[in-house]
Amino acid sequence: MQTVKSLHVLRTALAQLRVENATIALVPTMGALHEGHLTLVRRAKEAADHVVASIFVNPRQFGPNEDLDAYPRQLAADAAMLEAEGVALLWAPDAAAMYPPGFATNVSVAGVSDGLCGAARPGHFDGVATVVLKLFNQVAPDMAFFGEKDFQQLAVIRTMARDCDLIAPHADAIIGVPTVREADGLAMSSRNRYLSPGQRAAAAALPQAMQAAVAAIEGGAAAATALAALEAALIAAGFASVDYAALADAASLAPLEALGPAPARLLVAARIGTTRLIDNLPVGA
Ligand code: AMP
Repeated sequence: MQTVKSLHVLRTALAQLRVENATIALVPTMGALHEGHLTLVRRAKEAADHVVASIFVNPRQFGPNEDLDAYPRQLAADAAMLEAEGVALLWAPDAAAMYPPGFATNVSVAGVSDGLCGAARPGHFDGVATVVLKLFNQVAPDMAFFGEKDFQQLAVIRTMARDCDLIAPHADAIIGVPTVREADGLAMSSRNRYLSPGQRAAAAALPQAMQAAVAAIEGGAAAATALAALEAALIAAGFASVDYAALADAASLAPLEALGPAPARLLVAARIGTTRLIDNLPVGA
């Protein structure tokens, strides 16, 4: 596996991979890799001839009081894991390579970016859309893999690809992969390592309370009733606060008061200590 840090070396390396119409799948990440990321890599490897992974801790998607400086960085360990999975190329630019002096463009996807994490983290999805469009243009993959763990992010990227008529990858070639979980149900996340042992044990209440809310809503409960019980369960388990707990249409992410005929999603963001955890589950699927 080759690790490249400059765009012109990336282009040369990609040209070498593309011989005889070989297909390329992109797996964008911010590093600090875990089994969730590696599952994306494995799905990508099944689907394409070559996998290109990227590691870039994108400053534009962090707010001023967020964890950009504290975000875990472990490029050598991550590269070893990707190499062991058979990744062909690791694209690991630094911020100056991604955003050279004079960089002036912002990609903003209205509507689907506005609620949920978009409301709690102003500008976050502009940062995501901007960097992902750049990664798509830098690598021009045949397909790209993203986790349903970041369900709103996946919706934002699909909307951007459709609205901009992207061809590499086409919107239909943006593949969502189900969330990979720890044995107790907690969704794997690079941020879980911020949790103390006590917080880590308490964090299992998040998927448990979400499963109870899904069962209640599927059983006919009003969303407001089930979501209030979910929030109370999280606070009782030791969570500091709940940023949001919402039932939403799975495609538009518009809020729902009750389950209807269309696929729905339960989405939650909650803080345990200073660590913000997000998770989501299908409802009525
Ligand atoms: P990140 O490094 O957190 O930006 O994540 C990179 C990619 O991995 C994104 O598409 C995430 O949605 C995905 N991902 C992160 N955690 C998980 C997980 N537990 N299961 C599946 N995909 C995940």
